[in-house]
Amino acid sequence: METKLVRIENGDEESEKALQEAARILRTGGLVAFPTETVYGLGANAWDETAAGKIYAAKGRPSDNPLIVHISSIGELKPLVTNIPEVGRRLADAFWPGPLTMIFPKNGRVPDTTTGGLATVAVRMPGDAVARRLIALAGVPVAAPSANLSGRPSPTTAQHVWEDMKGRIEMILDGGPVGIGVESTIVDVSGTVPVLLRPGAVTLEMLKTVAKTVEIDAALGGKPDPDIRPKAPGMKYRHYAPKAELTLVEGEAGAVAAKINQLVKERMASGGRVGIICTEETRGNYPEGLLRSVGKRSQEETIAHNLFAVLRDFDDLQVDCIYSESFSREHLGYAIMNRLTKAAGYRMIYV
Ligand code: AMP
Ligand code: MG
Repeated sequence: METKLVRIENGDEESEKALQEAARILRTGGLVAFPTETVYGLGANAWDETAAGKIYAAKGRPSDNPLIVHISSIGELKPLVTNIPEVGRRLADAFWPGPLTMIFPKNGRVPDTTTGGLATVAVRMPGDAVARRLIALAGVPVAAPSANLSGRPSPTTAQHVWEDMKGRIEMILDGGPVGIGVESTIVDVSGTVPVLLRPGAVTLEMLKTVAKTVEIDAALGGKPDPDIRPKAPGMKYRHYAPKAELTLVEGEAGAVAAKINQLVKERMASGGRVGIICTEETRGNYPEGLLRSVGKRSQEETIAHNLFAVLRDFDDLQVDCIYSESFSREHLGYAIMNRLTKAAGYRMIYV
């Protein structure tokens, strides 16, 4: 299959034509990758079992890992769910459109392929205007997980999508680099108390300003435990992962740098190509190794924004191992550390 890559500029005629073509592809059962404010999504008509099934094939995604259904206005929520709990309504009022996905009891019309066989459905209204325009033009809800090959870091540019999806899907809309860079926050509102399943840019602290109590899914605690099954099936897979072995080093900045420098020396002495993930503030601490700054500690959103691109960069550099600094788990740091620890397969060193 030939994959069309089209640049979308705000408001120009060519872009409008491309969006209409993309909408037609979605309506008629094809796959289109599109920008959202979190990461690029790989979309299909959520009502169409066969179309949704193509997403799993294109990504190499396990069939029990459900998709997120994207809508362009609040009226599109009702046909997807059996009821909208009061807390879901309040969270939607506060954070939609935006990087928040909510889990609702699903309407029987939503095919099992879209929900990985679950009785619930994940729904999000993206903040990105191109994404919402595409969904509105398609006239159907759009099932879309991240547009990467399963197991690779999520795509934050159209180029990342091209690397993973060319020849596998009909079209890629290039809206430039995404804003946020980590996937949406997922909150299950189908039970009596909202439960955080995946941290994201709508932070736990923000959720608590609207829903007084928010529980945290037991599987978010840390290392996978065979007795704890994550409520978001996708969270159980080794995800977001670079090809090289990644290790996180946690502790006070000076001690972290000393430990990383010692490990880098050892690995280089045995002939390894070694990568280091540092920050603008700590760049100067590392004399050896392939150094990549992921952003500014003083502006956490820059770290979320660059994280997956840096992991992909190290894939291209073909390093054997990567050592990374760690971050605070508060606010957006929770999402950053969740992705990093998963990418590291929970390999951590505390100093
Ligand atoms: P992705 O957009 O690639 O991050 O994938 C969607 C994420 O949403 C995966 O982690 C899924 O496991 C999660 N998800 C989708 N639907 C549900 C659902 N009904 N219940 C819990 N988690 C879900
Ligand atoms: Mg994904």
